Amino acid sequence: MASLPSNTGGNKRRVSYFYDAEIGNYHYGQGHPMKPHRVRMTHNLVVNYGLYRQMEVFRPKPISSQHMTRFHSDDYINFLRVITQDNMQHNYTQLQRFNVGEDCPVFDGLFEFCQLYTSGSIGGAIRLNNKQSDVVINWAGGLHHAKKSEASGFCYVNDCVLAILELLKTHQRVLYIDIDIHHGDGVEEAFYTTNRVMTVSFHKFGEYFPGTGDVKDVGVAQGKNYAINFPLADGINDQSYRSIFRPVIEKVMEHYSPEAIVMQCGADSLSGDRLGCFNLSLKGHADCVQYVKSFNVPLLVLGGGGYTLRNVPRCWAYETGVLLDTEPSDMLPYNDYFEYYGPDYRLHMPTSNMEDMNKRETLEETKIQLFEILRSLEAVPGVPIETGAEVKTPATLRMPEEDEEMTEADDRPTGEGRRQHDAEQVGETLRVPPKPEIKANAWPLGT
Ligand SMILES: [Zn+2]
Repeated sequence: MASLPSNTGGNKRRVSYFYDAEIGNYHYGQGHPMKPHRVRMTHNLVVNYGLYRQMEVFRPKPISSQHMTRFHSDDYINFLRVITQDNMQHNYTQLQRFNVGEDCPVFDGLFEFCQLYTSGSIGGAIRLNNKQSDVVINWAGGLHHAKKSEASGFCYVNDCVLAILELLKTHQRVLYIDIDIHHGDGVEEAFYTTNRVMTVSFHKFGEYFPGTGDVKDVGVAQGKNYAINFPLADGINDQSYRSIFRPVIEKVMEHYSPEAIVMQCGADSLSGDRLGCFNLSLKGHADCVQYVKSFNVPLLVLGGGGYTLRNVPRCWAYETGVLLDTEPSDMLPYNDYFEYYGPDYRLHMPTSNMEDMNKRETLEETKIQLFEILRSLEAVPGVPIETGAEVKTPATLRMPEEDEEMTEADDRPTGEGRRQHDAEQVGETLRVPPKPEIKANAWPLGT
Protein backbone atom coordinates (compact mmCIF):
# COMPACT_ATOMS: atom_id res chain seq x y z
CA MET A 1 0.00 0.00 0.00
CA ALA A 2 1.32 3.40 -0.90
CA SER A 3 0.28 6.71 0.50
CA LEU A 4 -1.64 9.06 -1.73
CA PRO A 5 -0.75 12.72 -1.65
CA SER A 6 -2.89 14.20 1.05
CA ASN A 7 -5.16 17.13 0.46
CA THR A 8 -5.41 17.82 4.11
CA GLY A 9 -2.29 19.91 4.39
CA GLY A 10 -0.74 17.40 6.72
CA ASN A 11 -3.71 17.17 9.05
CA LYS A 12 -4.78 13.57 9.04
CA ARG A 13 -8.53 13.31 8.86
CA ARG A 14 -10.20 11.34 11.62
CA VAL A 15 -12.17 8.69 9.78
CA SER A 16 -14.87 6.59 11.43
CA TYR A 17 -16.64 3.62 9.92
CA PHE A 18 -19.97 2.10 10.89
CA TYR A 19 -20.67 -1.54 10.23
CA ASP A 20 -22.90 -4.23 11.67
CA ALA A 21 -22.04 -7.80 10.78
CA GLU A 22 -25.75 -8.67 10.72
CA ILE A 23 -26.41 -6.55 7.64
CA GLY A 24 -25.28 -9.23 5.19
CA ASN A 25 -27.82 -11.71 6.52
CA TYR A 26 -30.88 -9.93 5.12
CA HIS A 27 -32.33 -11.05 1.80
CA TYR A 28 -34.77 -9.14 -0.38
CA GLY A 29 -35.77 -12.46 -1.94
CA GLN A 30 -34.70 -14.76 -4.69
CA GLY A 31 -33.64 -12.98 -7.86
CA HIS A 32 -33.89 -9.53 -6.34
CA PRO A 33 -30.97 -7.40 -7.52
CA MET A 34 -30.49 -5.62 -4.16
CA LYS A 35 -28.19 -7.77 -2.05
CA PRO A 36 -27.16 -6.55 1.41
CA HIS A 37 -24.44 -9.21 1.23
CA ARG A 38 -22.40 -6.70 -0.84
CA VAL A 39 -21.88 -4.63 2.33
CA ARG A 40 -20.44 -7.67 4.12
CA MET A 41 -18.20 -8.34 1.12
CA THR A 42 -17.06 -4.71 1.22
CA HIS A 43 -16.26 -4.97 4.91
CA ASN A 44 -14.32 -8.13 4.33
CA LEU A 45 -12.17 -6.40 1.72
CA VAL A 46 -11.69 -3.39 4.01
CA VAL A 47 -10.52 -5.71 6.76
CA ASN A 48 -8.24 -7.81 4.55
CA TYR A 49 -6.64 -4.73 3.03
CA GLY A 50 -5.88 -3.65 6.61
CA LEU A 51 -7.79 -0.40 6.10
CA TYR A 52 -9.74 -0.87 9.33
CA ARG A 53 -6.52 -0.20 11.26
CA GLN A 54 -6.54 3.39 10.08
CA MET A 55 -10.02 4.22 11.27
CA GLU A 56 -12.31 3.80 14.20
CA VAL A 57 -14.82 1.07 13.56
CA PHE A 58 -18.23 1.24 15.22
CA ARG A 59 -21.18 -1.04 15.47
CA PRO A 60 -24.25 1.16 15.69
CA LYS A 61 -27.07 0.50 18.09
CA PRO A 62 -30.32 0.33 16.14
CA ILE A 63 -32.28 3.55 16.44
CA SER A 64 -35.87 3.63 17.61
CA SER A 65 -38.86 3.86 15.33
CA GLN A 66 -39.58 7.26 16.91
CA HIS A 67 -36.34 8.45 15.46
CA MET A 68 -37.51 7.44 12.00
CA THR A 69 -40.68 9.49 12.35
CA ARG A 70 -38.67 12.68 12.33
CA PHE A 71 -39.17 12.31 8.60
CA HIS A 72 -41.49 9.39 7.94
CA SER A 73 -45.14 9.27 8.88
CA ASP A 74 -46.11 7.34 12.00
CA ASP A 75 -48.43 4.98 10.17
CA TYR A 76 -45.83 4.10 7.55
CA ILE A 77 -43.20 3.27 10.18
CA ASN A 78 -45.76 1.29 12.19
CA PHE A 79 -46.59 -0.63 9.07
CA LEU A 80 -42.90 -1.45 8.45
CA ARG A 81 -42.66 -2.64 12.04
CA VAL A 82 -45.52 -5.09 11.91
CA ILE A 83 -45.70 -6.33 8.34
CA THR A 84 -44.48 -9.89 7.83
CA GLN A 85 -44.74 -12.43 5.05
CA ASP A 86 -47.28 -14.24 7.21
CA ASN A 87 -49.67 -11.33 7.68
CA MET A 88 -49.26 -9.62 4.34
CA GLN A 89 -52.22 -11.26 2.63
CA HIS A 90 -54.47 -9.53 5.18
CA ASN A 91 -52.89 -6.13 4.53
CA TYR A 92 -53.26 -5.74 0.82
CA THR A 93 -54.56 -2.16 1.01
CA GLN A 94 -51.69 -1.03 3.16
CA LEU A 95 -49.12 -2.78 1.00
CA GLN A 96 -50.46 -0.84 -1.96
CA ARG A 97 -50.68 2.41 -0.05
CA PHE A 98 -47.06 2.19 1.09
CA ASN A 99 -45.78 0.75 -2.20
CA VAL A 100 -44.46 -2.40 -0.56
CA GLY A 101 -44.58 -5.71 -2.42
CA GLU A 102 -42.75 -5.73 -5.74
CA ASP A 103 -39.55 -3.68 -5.97
CA CYS A 104 -39.66 -3.22 -2.23
CA PRO A 105 -40.69 -6.65 -0.97
CA VAL A 106 -41.59 -7.77 2.52
CA PHE A 107 -38.79 -10.01 3.79
CA ASP A 108 -37.68 -11.53 7.08
CA GLY A 109 -36.36 -8.89 9.44
CA LEU A 110 -37.28 -5.99 7.16
CA PHE A 111 -37.67 -3.49 9.99
CA GLU A 112 -34.42 -4.52 11.71
CA PHE A 113 -32.67 -4.17 8.37
CA CYS A 114 -33.96 -0.60 8.09
CA GLN A 115 -32.83 0.09 11.64
CA LEU A 116 -29.35 -1.22 10.94
CA TYR A 117 -28.60 0.82 7.87
CA THR A 118 -30.26 3.94 9.25
CA SER A 119 -28.57 3.79 12.64
CA GLY A 120 -25.14 3.88 11.00
CA SER A 121 -26.01 7.04 9.10
CA ILE A 122 -27.50 8.78 12.13
CA GLY A 123 -24.69 7.58 14.38
CA GLY A 124 -22.28 9.03 11.85
CA ALA A 125 -24.09 12.36 11.77
CA ILE A 126 -23.92 12.51 15.58
CA ARG A 127 -20.17 11.99 15.51
CA LEU A 128 -19.81 14.81 13.01
CA ASN A 129 -22.06 17.03 15.14
CA ASN A 130 -19.87 16.31 18.16
CA LYS A 131 -16.72 16.96 16.14
CA GLN A 132 -15.51 13.47 17.05
CA SER A 133 -14.83 12.59 13.42
CA ASP A 134 -14.02 14.44 10.22
CA VAL A 135 -15.26 11.72 7.90
CA VAL A 136 -17.76 8.96 8.66
CA ILE A 137 -18.47 6.02 6.36
CA ASN A 138 -21.62 3.89 6.34
CA TRP A 139 -21.69 1.70 3.25
CA ALA A 140 -24.96 0.09 4.37
CA GLY A 141 -26.75 3.43 4.03
CA GLY A 142 -27.64 5.70 1.13
CA LEU A 143 -31.18 4.46 0.50
CA HIS A 144 -32.14 7.69 -1.19
CA HIS A 145 -35.50 6.85 -2.83
CA ALA A 146 -37.64 6.30 0.28
CA LYS A 147 -40.43 8.86 0.71
CA LYS A 148 -42.21 10.16 3.76
CA SER A 149 -44.98 7.54 3.52
CA GLU A 150 -43.79 5.27 0.79
CA ALA A 151 -41.12 2.74 -0.03
CA SER A 152 -39.48 3.18 -3.42
CA GLY A 153 -36.66 1.70 -5.49
CA PHE A 154 -35.53 -0.91 -2.90
CA CYS A 155 -35.54 1.79 -0.17
CA TYR A 156 -37.85 1.82 2.85
CA VAL A 157 -36.43 4.28 5.36
CA ASN A 158 -34.52 7.27 4.02
CA ASP A 159 -31.36 7.27 6.12
CA CYS A 160 -29.91 10.12 4.01
CA VAL A 161 -32.77 12.42 5.01
CA LEU A 162 -32.63 11.36 8.67
CA ALA A 163 -28.85 11.89 8.80
CA ILE A 164 -29.22 15.34 7.25
CA LEU A 165 -31.90 16.23 9.83
CA GLU A 166 -29.45 15.20 12.53
CA LEU A 167 -26.71 17.35 10.99
CA LEU A 168 -29.08 20.34 10.82
CA LYS A 169 -29.04 20.44 14.62
CA THR A 170 -25.55 21.88 14.57
CA HIS A 171 -24.95 22.89 10.97
CA GLN A 172 -26.58 25.79 9.22
CA ARG A 173 -26.18 24.50 5.67
CA VAL A 174 -25.88 20.85 4.65
CA LEU A 175 -24.94 19.77 1.15
CA TYR A 176 -26.16 16.46 -0.25
CA ILE A 177 -24.27 15.01 -3.23
CA ASP A 178 -25.57 11.94 -5.06
CA ILE A 179 -23.53 9.98 -7.63
CA ASP A 180 -25.83 6.95 -7.79
CA ILE A 181 -27.00 6.39 -11.38
CA HIS A 182 -30.57 7.07 -10.20
CA HIS A 183 -31.91 10.48 -9.24
CA GLY A 184 -31.79 11.11 -5.49
CA ASP A 185 -35.50 11.87 -5.51
CA GLY A 186 -36.40 11.06 -1.90
CA VAL A 187 -33.78 13.40 -0.50
CA GLU A 188 -34.53 16.15 -2.99
CA GLU A 189 -38.24 15.98 -2.21
CA ALA A 190 -37.68 16.10 1.55
CA PHE A 191 -35.70 19.34 1.30
CA TYR A 192 -37.31 20.86 -1.80
CA THR A 193 -38.65 23.87 0.07
CA THR A 194 -35.68 24.76 2.25
CA ASN A 195 -32.39 26.53 1.68
CA ARG A 196 -30.76 24.82 4.63
CA VAL A 197 -30.08 21.78 2.49
CA MET A 198 -28.81 21.86 -1.07
CA THR A 199 -29.24 18.62 -3.00
CA VAL A 200 -27.02 17.90 -6.01
CA SER A 201 -27.70 14.78 -8.05
CA PHE A 202 -25.93 13.43 -11.16
CA HIS A 203 -28.01 10.73 -12.79
CA LYS A 204 -29.26 8.98 -15.90
CA PHE A 205 -32.36 10.82 -17.09
CA GLY A 206 -34.94 9.80 -19.67
CA GLU A 207 -37.00 6.61 -19.55
CA TYR A 208 -35.24 5.58 -16.41
CA PHE A 209 -36.22 5.10 -12.77
CA PRO A 210 -37.46 7.17 -10.96
CA GLY A 211 -38.14 9.56 -13.83
CA THR A 212 -37.46 12.79 -11.93
CA GLY A 213 -34.38 15.01 -11.84
CA ASP A 214 -34.78 17.34 -14.81
CA VAL A 215 -32.30 20.19 -14.90
CA LYS A 216 -35.31 22.51 -14.66
CA ASP A 217 -36.35 21.13 -11.28
CA VAL A 218 -34.61 23.54 -8.96
CA GLY A 219 -36.70 23.63 -5.76
CA VAL A 220 -39.58 25.85 -4.70
CA ALA A 221 -40.29 28.68 -2.26
CA GLN A 222 -37.28 29.18 -0.01
CA GLY A 223 -35.73 26.10 -1.55
CA LYS A 224 -35.78 27.58 -5.04
CA ASN A 225 -32.37 27.09 -6.68
CA TYR A 226 -31.24 24.82 -3.84
CA ALA A 227 -31.94 21.62 -5.80
CA ILE A 228 -29.37 20.95 -8.51
CA ASN A 229 -29.88 18.21 -11.09
CA PHE A 230 -27.46 17.05 -13.75
CA PRO A 231 -29.32 14.73 -16.15
CA LEU A 232 -27.06 12.36 -18.12
CA ALA A 233 -27.32 9.86 -20.97
CA ASP A 234 -26.01 6.29 -21.24
CA GLY A 235 -22.37 5.37 -21.30
CA ILE A 236 -20.78 8.29 -19.50
CA ASN A 237 -17.08 7.62 -18.96
CA ASP A 238 -14.54 8.86 -16.42
CA GLN A 239 -13.40 11.78 -18.50
CA SER A 240 -16.90 13.14 -19.22
CA TYR A 241 -18.00 12.66 -15.63
CA ARG A 242 -14.98 14.44 -14.24
CA SER A 243 -15.49 17.29 -16.72
CA ILE A 244 -18.85 18.05 -15.11
CA PHE A 245 -18.59 16.81 -11.53
CA ARG A 246 -15.59 18.83 -10.45
CA PRO A 247 -16.67 22.18 -11.93
CA VAL A 248 -20.24 21.84 -10.65
CA ILE A 249 -19.15 20.88 -7.15
CA GLU A 250 -16.54 23.63 -7.15
CA LYS A 251 -19.25 26.19 -7.91
CA VAL A 252 -21.61 24.65 -5.36
CA MET A 253 -18.93 24.93 -2.68
CA GLU A 254 -18.20 28.50 -3.69
CA HIS A 255 -21.82 29.65 -3.66
CA TYR A 256 -23.31 27.51 -0.91
CA SER A 257 -20.36 26.98 1.43
CA PRO A 258 -21.87 24.06 3.33
CA GLU A 259 -20.91 23.28 6.91
CA ALA A 260 -21.37 19.54 6.41
CA ILE A 261 -21.70 17.23 3.42
CA VAL A 262 -23.57 13.96 2.95
CA MET A 263 -22.38 12.04 -0.09
CA GLN A 264 -24.34 9.12 -1.50
CA CYS A 265 -21.93 6.89 -3.46
CA GLY A 266 -24.27 4.49 -5.24
CA ALA A 267 -22.09 2.05 -7.17
CA ASP A 268 -24.67 1.41 -9.90
CA SER A 269 -23.02 4.21 -11.88
CA LEU A 270 -20.04 1.87 -12.44
CA SER A 271 -19.40 0.18 -15.75
CA GLY A 272 -21.08 -3.20 -16.04
CA ASP A 273 -23.72 -2.65 -13.38
CA ARG A 274 -26.63 -5.07 -13.64
CA LEU A 275 -29.18 -2.25 -13.60
CA GLY A 276 -27.03 0.70 -14.63
CA CYS A 277 -25.88 1.96 -18.03
CA PHE A 278 -22.93 4.22 -17.22
CA ASN A 279 -19.31 3.37 -17.93
CA LEU A 280 -17.32 4.63 -14.96
CA SER A 281 -14.24 2.87 -13.65
CA LEU A 282 -13.45 2.63 -9.94
CA LYS A 283 -11.06 5.52 -10.37
CA GLY A 284 -13.65 7.66 -12.13
CA HIS A 285 -16.22 7.00 -9.40
CA ALA A 286 -13.72 7.48 -6.59
CA ASP A 287 -12.43 10.70 -8.11
CA CYS A 288 -15.72 12.27 -7.01
CA VAL A 289 -15.11 11.12 -3.44
CA GLN A 290 -11.54 12.36 -3.54
CA TYR A 291 -12.64 15.75 -4.82
CA VAL A 292 -15.40 16.20 -2.24
CA LYS A 293 -13.01 15.15 0.53
CA SER A 294 -10.47 17.76 -0.60
CA PHE A 295 -12.70 20.58 0.70
CA ASN A 296 -12.13 19.40 4.27
CA VAL A 297 -15.74 19.87 5.29
CA PRO A 298 -17.26 17.33 7.77
CA LEU A 299 -18.31 14.48 5.52
CA LEU A 300 -20.73 11.58 5.84
CA VAL A 301 -20.15 8.99 3.09
CA LEU A 302 -22.96 6.56 2.32
CA GLY A 303 -23.48 3.63 -0.04
CA GLY A 304 -26.59 3.28 -2.20
CA GLY A 305 -27.31 1.31 -5.35
CA GLY A 306 -24.91 -1.18 -6.88
CA TYR A 307 -26.10 -4.44 -8.42
CA THR A 308 -23.13 -6.25 -9.90
CA LEU A 309 -22.17 -8.03 -6.75
CA ARG A 310 -18.44 -8.43 -7.43
CA ASN A 311 -17.93 -4.76 -8.31
CA VAL A 312 -19.67 -2.98 -5.43
CA PRO A 313 -17.16 -4.16 -2.78
CA ARG A 314 -14.30 -3.22 -5.11
CA CYS A 315 -15.68 0.29 -5.40
CA TRP A 316 -16.47 0.94 -1.76
CA ALA A 317 -13.26 -0.67 -0.47
CA TYR A 318 -11.28 1.49 -2.88
CA GLU A 319 -13.18 4.59 -1.79
CA THR A 320 -12.51 3.72 1.85
CA GLY A 321 -8.84 3.79 0.85
CA VAL A 322 -9.26 7.15 -0.86
CA LEU A 323 -10.84 8.59 2.29
CA LEU A 324 -7.85 7.27 4.27
CA ASP A 325 -5.29 8.65 1.79
CA THR A 326 -4.25 5.08 1.08
CA GLU A 327 -4.04 3.41 -2.30
CA PRO A 328 -5.00 -0.26 -1.91
CA SER A 329 -2.93 -2.57 -4.10
CA ASP A 330 -4.51 -3.80 -7.31
CA MET A 331 -3.94 -7.41 -6.30
CA LEU A 332 -6.86 -8.28 -4.07
CA PRO A 333 -5.88 -9.68 -0.70
CA TYR A 334 -7.16 -13.13 0.09
CA ASN A 335 -10.61 -12.75 1.63
CA ASP A 336 -13.70 -14.75 2.50
CA TYR A 337 -15.30 -14.09 -0.88
CA PHE A 338 -12.21 -14.44 -3.05
CA GLU A 339 -13.96 -16.62 -5.64
CA TYR A 340 -16.31 -13.75 -6.55
CA TYR A 341 -13.41 -11.75 -7.94
CA GLY A 342 -12.09 -14.19 -10.51
CA PRO A 343 -10.74 -14.68 -13.05
CA ASP A 344 -8.22 -11.90 -12.44
CA TYR A 345 -8.62 -11.27 -8.68
CA ARG A 346 -7.73 -7.63 -9.14
CA LEU A 347 -9.24 -4.60 -7.49
CA HIS A 348 -9.69 -2.52 -10.62
CA MET A 349 -12.01 -3.76 -13.31
CA PRO A 350 -12.08 -2.88 -16.99
CA THR A 351 -14.68 -0.52 -18.41
CA SER A 352 -16.56 -1.39 -21.58
CA ASN A 353 -16.30 -0.08 -25.12
CA MET A 354 -19.85 1.27 -25.08
CA GLU A 355 -20.38 4.64 -26.68
CA ASP A 356 -20.61 7.68 -24.44
CA MET A 357 -23.96 9.13 -25.49
CA ASN A 358 -23.24 12.38 -23.66
CA LYS A 359 -22.23 14.92 -26.27
CA ARG A 360 -19.64 17.34 -25.05
CA GLU A 361 -21.74 20.33 -26.07
CA THR A 362 -24.76 19.03 -24.17
CA LEU A 363 -22.72 18.52 -21.02
CA GLU A 364 -21.31 22.03 -21.38
CA GLU A 365 -24.79 23.49 -21.87
CA THR A 366 -26.15 21.77 -18.79
CA LYS A 367 -23.14 22.87 -16.80
CA ILE A 368 -23.68 26.49 -17.84
CA GLN A 369 -27.38 26.23 -16.93
CA LEU A 370 -26.48 25.00 -13.47
CA PHE A 371 -23.82 27.68 -13.05
CA GLU A 372 -26.50 30.26 -13.77
CA ILE A 373 -28.77 28.79 -11.11
CA LEU A 374 -25.90 28.83 -8.63
CA ARG A 375 -24.94 32.39 -9.56
CA SER A 376 -28.46 33.50 -8.75
CA LEU A 377 -27.86 32.60 -5.11
CA GLU A 378 -26.57 35.37 -2.94
CA ALA A 379 -22.84 35.38 -2.45
CA VAL A 380 -21.87 33.36 0.59
CA PRO A 381 -22.29 35.65 3.53
CA GLY A 382 -20.60 35.48 6.86
CA VAL A 383 -23.56 33.86 8.56
CA PRO A 384 -24.42 35.76 11.69
CA ILE A 385 -24.80 33.37 14.57
CA GLU A 386 -27.75 34.56 16.56
CA THR A 387 -28.02 32.88 19.90
CA GLY A 388 -31.40 31.88 21.14
CA ALA A 389 -33.07 32.35 17.81
CA GLU A 390 -35.92 30.07 17.00
CA VAL A 391 -35.17 27.26 14.63
CA LYS A 392 -37.43 27.05 11.65
CA THR A 393 -37.59 23.78 9.83
CA PRO A 394 -39.20 22.86 6.54
CA ALA A 395 -42.93 22.45 6.83
CA THR A 396 -42.93 18.69 6.47
CA LEU A 397 -39.99 18.03 8.74
CA ARG A 398 -39.85 17.69 12.46
CA MET A 399 -36.76 18.50 14.45
CA PRO A 400 -36.04 16.09 17.29
CA GLU A 401 -37.24 16.91 20.76
CA GLU A 402 -34.59 17.92 23.20
CA ASP A 403 -35.19 15.05 25.55
CA GLU A 404 -35.40 12.44 22.87
CA GLU A 405 -33.21 9.44 23.36
CA MET A 406 -30.19 9.68 21.14
CA THR A 407 -28.52 6.96 19.18
CA GLU A 408 -25.59 5.36 20.80
CA ALA A 409 -23.49 2.53 19.60
CA ASP A 410 -23.48 -0.45 21.88
CA ASP A 411 -20.77 -2.74 23.03
CA ARG A 412 -21.90 -5.97 21.50
CA PRO A 413 -19.11 -8.25 20.33
CA THR A 414 -17.51 -6.93 17.22
CA GLY A 415 -18.10 -8.38 13.80
CA GLU A 416 -15.46 -10.78 12.56
CA GLY A 417 -13.32 -10.27 15.63
CA ARG A 418 -12.01 -6.94 14.44
CA ARG A 419 -11.40 -3.77 16.33
CA GLN A 420 -14.66 -2.01 17.01
CA HIS A 421 -15.41 0.55 19.64
CA ASP A 422 -18.64 1.56 21.07
CA ALA A 423 -19.49 5.11 20.30
CA GLU A 424 -18.16 6.44 23.55
CA GLN A 425 -21.23 7.79 25.15
CA VAL A 426 -22.45 9.62 22.16
CA GLY A 427 -25.87 9.46 23.73
CA GLU A 428 -24.59 10.83 27.01
CA THR A 429 -22.87 13.85 25.58
CA LEU A 430 -25.85 14.62 23.42
CA ARG A 431 -28.52 14.11 26.06
CA VAL A 432 -29.38 17.73 25.47
CA PRO A 433 -28.66 18.17 21.80
CA PRO A 434 -27.27 21.58 21.02
CA LYS A 435 -29.88 23.71 19.41
CA PRO A 436 -28.65 25.33 16.26
CA GLU A 437 -28.12 28.84 17.46
CA ILE A 438 -28.88 30.14 14.08
CA LYS A 439 -31.88 31.72 12.52
CA ALA A 440 -32.87 29.28 9.83
CA ASN A 441 -33.54 31.93 7.27
CA ALA A 442 -30.75 34.28 8.17
CA TRP A 443 -29.01 33.00 5.12
CA PRO A 444 -29.96 33.28 1.44
CA LEU A 445 -33.64 33.07 0.96
CA GLY A 446 -33.21 32.13 -2.62
CA THR A 447 -36.28 33.96 -3.73
ZN1 LIG B 1 -29.38 3.57 -7.95
